[in-house]
Amino acid sequence: MLQTLLPTTLAGSLPKPSWLATPNQLWAPWLLEGEILDEGMQDAVRLVLYDQNAAGIDILTDGEQTRRHFVTTFIENLEGIDFEHKRTVRIRDRYDAEVPVVVGAVARRRPVFYEHAKFLRNETDKPIKFTLPGPMTMVDTLFDAHYQSREKLAGVFAEILNAEARELASLGIDIIQFDEPAFNVFMDEVRDWGVATLERAAAGLPCKTATHICYGYGIKANIDWKKTLGAEWRQYESTFPLLAKSSIDQISLECANSHVPLELIALLEGKDIMVGAIDVATEQVETPEQVAAVLRAALKFVAPQRLYPCTNCGLVPLSRAAARGKLRALAAGAAIVRKELSS
Ligand SMILES: [Zn+2]
Repeated sequence: MLQTLLPTTLAGSLPKPSWLATPNQLWAPWLLEGEILDEGMQDAVRLVLYDQNAAGIDILTDGEQTRRHFVTTFIENLEGIDFEHKRTVRIRDRYDAEVPVVVGAVARRRPVFYEHAKFLRNETDKPIKFTLPGPMTMVDTLFDAHYQSREKLAGVFAEILNAEARELASLGIDIIQFDEPAFNVFMDEVRDWGVATLERAAAGLPCKTATHICYGYGIKANIDWKKTLGAEWRQYESTFPLLAKSSIDQISLECANSHVPLELIALLEGKDIMVGAIDVATEQVETPEQVAAVLRAALKFVAPQRLYPCTNCGLVPLSRAAARGKLRALAAGAAIVRKELSS
């Protein structure tokens, strides 16, 4: 797909313009309505493409400008889920949120992101990645009053995601990524059914497939949680060997300012590794040299041909200025290491 060594990309989201949604906020409500909202989303996609191109990012995303939230916007388009009477659940075992309720058989009656992905494809000739929530993370962002089984509900979501992903791939999307932050929390479920269910979501896709597993956005609940994880974060240690045996092509993990021992990357032999070299929990923009240092450290455990410099997670809660700076730092840091490798 790409001849460039160390092609840069991002986990997915970017901040939205302040005329489209309230900045620095998850689940920020739209500030436009109807056709003007559609037009606004498209303009926002054009802007994030401009920013990524200007920074020199190689694999582009739509910055998730067309969704309020990486999980709930997809769920909103499904049948069998009640958004009127929300229930409070504990998300990722960490923080309470008001979430929709599964009240009946879940089904996808129409494509969810097809038109948005088509727009993105038509706006750029560069390789593009499209993100979808993973089945386990979807289950963990809902109250289930119908299936009474996380595994069963995840299986239904996997079939739905697969149908959606096949349509997206038919548009010429280069990489489809399933976001599974829940994989860092429910390790027994990952082993028992999580990876198999993820593979069902990605089955038979003609494009590259990826999964993103992180320690979450830089929100307070996540920062507090990270403080409880100790000096070394070894959550990946139990999931990576399972993913190494899976059909998923690329794995995205968090390395910048994290306590993840980078030797865990070696557990993913044979996979492309998206190395998070940008911290999403701080507005402070990395220097290119800081990015390069993370990439050099990762290169001890992954071949350069398999390394994709990336962000730790989505940048949506940050300011646009910080996000733009971080994109530039990512590209410039990758350029430093690319030069070292080719000399
Ligand atoms: Zn993430």
